[in-house]
Amino acid sequence: MMDHPRVQACETLEELRSYIGDCQRCPLARTRTNLVFGVGSPRARLMFIGEAPGRNEDLQGEPFVGAAGKLLDELLASIGLDRSEVYIANVLKCRPPGNRDPLPEEMEQCTPFLEQQVRLVDPEVIATLGNFATRHVLKTQAGITRLRGRLFRSAGRKVVPIYHPAAALYDRTKQDVLFEDFQRLKAVLEMPAESGDVSGAQRTEARTRRSESAQPGPEQPTLF
Ligand code: SF4
Repeated sequence: MMDHPRVQACETLEELRSYIGDCQRCPLARTRTNLVFGVGSPRARLMFIGEAPGRNEDLQGEPFVGAAGKLLDELLASIGLDRSEVYIANVLKCRPPGNRDPLPEEMEQCTPFLEQQVRLVDPEVIATLGNFATRHVLKTQAGITRLRGRLFRSAGRKVVPIYHPAAALYDRTKQDVLFEDFQRLKAVLEMPAESGDVSGAQRTEARTRRSESAQPGPEQPTLF
């Protein structure tokens, strides 16, 4: 059973990773090779959220390795960013067998970890990768083809849905669209903060508050 206050009391990504440990909270623990937590800058302004680890990620314990990871690196380079400057995580930390869609019980157990990762990294912009992550973050049933490249807002953060790089690997048209959408991401990162945005100053203040008093949050976390 998930202990939300303890998840929310984790003050750093390292602490959260350590709390998750050798997680056995859902049946995916029995079929995974490695738990894939997330990588990147703990202070990234841009965070990518994918669905769940694939085969290569499961084998290596890192998100976005293999051909899809290489494409992501190229997309980042096209807007002058390196993987070390962003943060990358998935909705689920363990691979569903055969890459099937995550099940509700798996989501219920695992998503508090992602929510805490988002709180700790505190990104200004979230790019959701593909249908599943987009639907989860934006709480919508609309598909990625309709939503991609558009700017949404969720709890003071800008959210930009884009295709999952794995879906574009063998589709030149989708790759072109991805490169276009990364230019939009760059423009969103350059946008001046508006009222209600999570701004740099607010982020610093929130981090200071967090480090000064780490009180457990409410029982049910609100999304991001
Ligand atoms: S998917 Fe999440 S909840 Fe399930 S075992 Fe992995 S880390 Fe734990």
